[in-house]
Amino acid sequence: MTLPAWLDKPWGDLTARLERLPHGILLSGPVGVGKRLLAEALAARLLCTDAKDGAPACGSCTGCRLRLAGTHPDLHVVVPEADMPEETAPARKSGKPSTQILIEQIRALQSSLELTAHMGGRRVVVIDPADAMNPFTANALLKLLEEPPRATHLLLVTSAPRRLLPTLRSRCQAWAIPQPEADAAGAWLAEAGGAGATRLSQLLGGSPLEAARLAGQGVGEALQRFEREVGAIGPNSDVIALAGSWEGWTKARDGLAAGIDMPRLSDWMLRWSWDLVASKCGVGVRYFDGQRQMMARLVERVPLAQLFDCYNQISQVRRSASHPLNMRLALEDMLLRYQRCLSSGNRP
Ligand SMILES: [Zn+2]
Repeated sequence: MTLPAWLDKPWGDLTARLERLPHGILLSGPVGVGKRLLAEALAARLLCTDAKDGAPACGSCTGCRLRLAGTHPDLHVVVPEADMPEETAPARKSGKPSTQILIEQIRALQSSLELTAHMGGRRVVVIDPADAMNPFTANALLKLLEEPPRATHLLLVTSAPRRLLPTLRSRCQAWAIPQPEADAAGAWLAEAGGAGATRLSQLLGGSPLEAARLAGQGVGEALQRFEREVGAIGPNSDVIALAGSWEGWTKARDGLAAGIDMPRLSDWMLRWSWDLVASKCGVGVRYFDGQRQMMARLVERVPLAQLFDCYNQISQVRRSASHPLNMRLALEDMLLRYQRCLSSGNRP
C-alpha cells in the first residue's frame, strides 16, 4: 500500500536518517492517521536490502519476500490478542481475547531477540498500541529499550502517548503524526476509502484510515441506513417497529460485519442529536454534514430547549448502552425518547 500524501513528510524525515535511527521510535498521533501504516512501511524499509535512500521497500528482495509472506524471522509485530488475525491468535479455552499486550508476549520477544539476527541484518519490532500495557509489562519492555540488542529497532505506535510510562517515553525518539488537512484526507478517501468512507471520516472527526477500515466492513453503508431511518422519524412514525427492525439488524450478517450494536447505534444517535442542536443554533453540523438540509427541516419548529433535552436524554441512553439486558427495550427506549423530544414542536 502506498502511503497517503500527508505521511510523505514524516516518511522523508525518517528515511533520511535511516542509518542513524535510534533503537526506540515512538510514533504518536490521533486514531486513524496512519501511524501503524508508517511503522509498517518503515519496518519494511529497514528490512529491505535493495531499496536506496527515501525509496520504499523494493518488494522483491529476499527480505521483502519473506516479510510479504509473513515469515520474516527478524520482524516482530506485538499486538494484543484481540487485534490478531484469527489464524495467528493463540488457542483460547474461554473468555474474550485480551485487549492488552501481555507480559508473556514481551518475554517471548526478549528471548527471540537474544538470538542473533536470522538474516544477519537489522531486526524490527512493531508494538501497537504501545499504551496497552500494564506497568509490569511496560517495565519488561523498558529493559529491552535500556539494553537493546544490536541493530534492533523498536517502533512503538500509540494514539495515547501520555498513557505510556514516562521512562518508556524518554527512551524513545518521539514522532508526532498530526491529523491531515481535510482536503488531503478527502482526496485520499475519495480514491482509496470505499463506500461511505468520507461520511465516516466526518463522523469520526478525521481519522481517514480508520474510516477506510470501517468502510471495508460495511460501516459506511450501515451509516447510510441509519441516516435514512432516523431522518424519517416523525411524530406519527412507528418507532416500536423501527426498534424491532434494528434489533434484527444487530443480528443480521451485514449488521454483525459492521459491528452494529447498542453502543454504536446510541453513539450515532448522540452525534445526530448534537448536530440537531448545532443546526438549530446555526453553527453548522459537525458529524452529518450530508444531512444538513434535512436537519434544518427537522428542527425548524422544535424549540432549542427541547433539542438540548433530546441530547441529554440520548446521553443517558449512551452511558448505559454497553450491556443492555434487553436490546429490544433499550432500542425502543432510545427511539421513543428521541421521537418525544422532536415531536413536541411538530405536533399539529
Ligand atoms: Zn526489498
